[in-house]
Amino acid sequence: MNDRMDKIVALCKRRGFIFQSSEIYGGLNGFWDYGPLGVELKRNVKDAWWKDMITNHDEYLVPPGAPQTFSMVGLDCSLIMHPQVWKCSGHYDLFHDQMADCRETKKRYRFDHLSGRWAEHKGKRVFITTDKDADEGYAHVRKRALQFFGLREKEADQVVFGTGPHGGLAAQLGKASPVAHTPTEPVEKLLDIWEADCLANVLAPDAEAVGTLTEPREFNLMFKTTIGALAGDEGTAFLRPETAQGMFVNFKNVLDTQRVRVPFGIAQAGKSFRNEITPRNFTFRSREFEQMEMEFFCHPDQSYEWYKYWRDRRYAWYTNLGLSKEKLILRDHAKDELSHYSVGTADVEYAFPFLEDGKYGELEGIAHRGDFDLRSHMEGKLVKNEKGHLVVELDANGKPKYQGSGRDLTYFDDQTRERYTPHVIEPAAGADRATLAFLCEAYHEDSQPDDTGALQERVVMKLHPKLAPVKAAVFPLVKKIGMPEFALELYREIKAAGIPCVYDQQAAIGKRYRRQDEIGTPFCFTVDGQSIDDKTVTLRDRDTLEQRRIPASNVVEEIAARLKG
Ligand code: ATP
Repeated sequence: MNDRMDKIVALCKRRGFIFQSSEIYGGLNGFWDYGPLGVELKRNVKDAWWKDMITNHDEYLVPPGAPQTFSMVGLDCSLIMHPQVWKCSGHYDLFHDQMADCRETKKRYRFDHLSGRWAEHKGKRVFITTDKDADEGYAHVRKRALQFFGLREKEADQVVFGTGPHGGLAAQLGKASPVAHTPTEPVEKLLDIWEADCLANVLAPDAEAVGTLTEPREFNLMFKTTIGALAGDEGTAFLRPETAQGMFVNFKNVLDTQRVRVPFGIAQAGKSFRNEITPRNFTFRSREFEQMEMEFFCHPDQSYEWYKYWRDRRYAWYTNLGLSKEKLILRDHAKDELSHYSVGTADVEYAFPFLEDGKYGELEGIAHRGDFDLRSHMEGKLVKNEKGHLVVELDANGKPKYQGSGRDLTYFDDQTRERYTPHVIEPAAGADRATLAFLCEAYHEDSQPDDTGALQERVVMKLHPKLAPVKAAVFPLVKKIGMPEFALELYREIKAAGIPCVYDQQAAIGKRYRRQDEIGTPFCFTVDGQSIDDKTVTLRDRDTLEQRRIPASNVVEEIAARLKG
């Protein structure tokens, strides 16, 4: 991490925003605790999201042809759901394997499906891989070796293939002379012989250049747990790796119990768990994190319009809360990046300070998911067939690999008399990543004159007032002549109005301001001698440093007005 990020992390710890989990025991990689200020900040982020999506959602900018009003409702689902949910959603299979990507061809392989042989020609040795099995695999490796070394069939005997004891690929590659092969010998699993750093010598099954295969990534990202006293697979359950499935499996419940009509949205914010292989960059990639997700159900014909609506609206949410447009991008996925069921996906990405210049990290994905999810929970796990259609995946006996619920999750529009499976637009955001982005954006250093006029370095967190954990601070200028009493009364009045506020009478006034600047408190009120006489106080603005006298009786009103703006 760079200097700026180090300072932000240090501030988070110093002022009680974020601590390492279980720190006194040395911490736990990928887990974080939010301190007294962090918990307020993250709650404000989630509240702002909830208000924007549900409570205060406005409906006047709807896409052409859409109804002027639509419902947005919330849920709070259990963290552990029926294991079948994850089988039908695809997480059980998809999150289960080690995958390696080819940087050249963009193809992805199950790492345990890759096998190969090393081959040598004129002193150059390469491990040639294939994703085909047994004899077919061997023939493929042989063909690929000839291609790679630029040889014709009749020159095949110039290549020496290694059979290799299981001493590891690196060891084999280091051998002085390879062991000659017998053509019928089976290929070796890359997994069995793989060692760190040896991939530079591996030729991916469809690549032209060597060394394009990425390290295998464990896709077994779901945390397993056991329900009750049942041992074995029967009791196995998973901590949810996303909140979204709660909305899909409750689609019918919401439809049947609420007065909602398609289009409508169901949202939920809560914990998700992923056993990330490399948690890193502070809270950016954690193993336990919070998501803020919404599933918007709409008519298939209007789904693309709604997709654009949510994409733009979600981008604006971040900029309205202070992220600068220079650091925030809305990146549309290229066609080949889209999930097989999606006609459009865009990511909201932020230029985090821990990334190189020009690189962005994902804050939120807005995906058009078609009818994939509702259909999966009706019919069973879906896969794309050779014609590109989504069909139920079958097992070796021709039965659905994972059976769906069998429930009818279609929608009947009683006005148009049409029955259909709604399409879904999903804005899926991370509460921790958003909080981290707001923290990074807010961090500023400048210098301000102190009480004597000398310049003092100051760290100021320019958090949007709506997000700031503490909104106001009240200070008596000195601890005498009735000032503390006056200030305490004001402090209590602010607290009674439900506005987070602190009272501070310790140290010089400049120091007290700086203490508040560092945690992002937007408004400080100072009670001085004049206050006792005319019942006014000084309001000092964190960002403009403007100081203005206002009647003490207007303080609550003034803060409320500024928080609204
Ligand atoms: P990434 O590609 O970074 O792993 P993703 O595309 O898998 O993310 P989604 O499944 O779309 O993420 O989840 C939606 C949001 O949840 C992400 O945009 C991100 O804000 C948040 N999120 C996902 N994984 C993590 C994590 N490990 N730690 C913190 N937040 C996460």
